[in-house]
Formats: sequence, structure tokens, C-alpha cells
Amino acid sequence: MGLSKLEQLYRQVILDHSSHPRHYGELEDATGKMHLNNPTCGDDITVYFRIEDDRIVDVQFTGVGCSISMASASMMTEAILGKTVDEAQELIERFSEMVLGEEVDTQPLGDAALLQGVSKFPARIKCATLGWKALEKGIQEEEE
Ligand code: ZN
Repeated sequence: MGLSKLEQLYRQVILDHSSHPRHYGELEDATGKMHLNNPTCGDDITVYFRIEDDRIVDVQFTGVGCSISMASASMMTEAILGKTVDEAQELIERFSEMVLGEEVDTQPLGDAALLQGVSKFPARIKCATLGWKALEKGIQEEEE
């Protein structure tokens, strides 16, 4: 029982994101940031973002953690960059629903759609959502 070709491809893309995270590093002119951790796995992520005219014009993250948490945060930055705050919140919600096993249109999530299989591993759901939740909380705090 080997992995299907499609599963091998998914795994390669996820590994590529975790070993070469996109938009990794501290954002110097950030308008907001949020640090969150997932003690059960040891994942620890800080998301930095810059909002101008209600649009996320820059987003980066730093942190350590398992490959799912790093890959997911990397995929999050790619999905969110350039989106309006409303669109970003909608994508975060869509991603959370997907990893909880709900039927959603995953196409707008880009590479992050490849993490759909996480729904079969409840212990990893927090790993996958950590970076997304950090951005969500950071935006909420900035808007208060
Ligand atoms: Zn983890």
C-alpha cells in the first residue's frame, strides 16, 4: 500500500513549504503582530502584517514548530498577501472549516488546500491552524 502519486505530490509541496517557508522573517514596518503557541506540539509562531487602506499589503512570520505548522503558516502568507481584511478573514474561516472536515470550496486557499487531509488527524489541527489564528487575532486586535 504505497502512497498514490497525488499524495506524494501533496507531501512534496508541504515539505517544500516547511523547509523553505515563504515570507519568513520579522516585518520591520508591520502595523500589527501576534504571537501564538501550541503547547501540545511545541509550535510557536509570530505573524507580522501591514495593513494599508483595509488591505494586507505585507505579511510575514517567524517561529519554530512541526512541519505542518511551518508549512501551513507559509501557505497562509501566500493565500493572504494582497487581500482585503474582509477577504483574509473569510479565507481564515474557510481554512479552519476545511481542517475540521467541513465541505468547503478549497480553491481560494491555494497551496493551503493541500492540508485538507489534516482533518483526519485531530491532534494536528491546532498545528495547521496556528499561523492563521495568529493573523486573525492580530487583525482583531488592530481593529479594536
Ligand atoms: Zn505541530
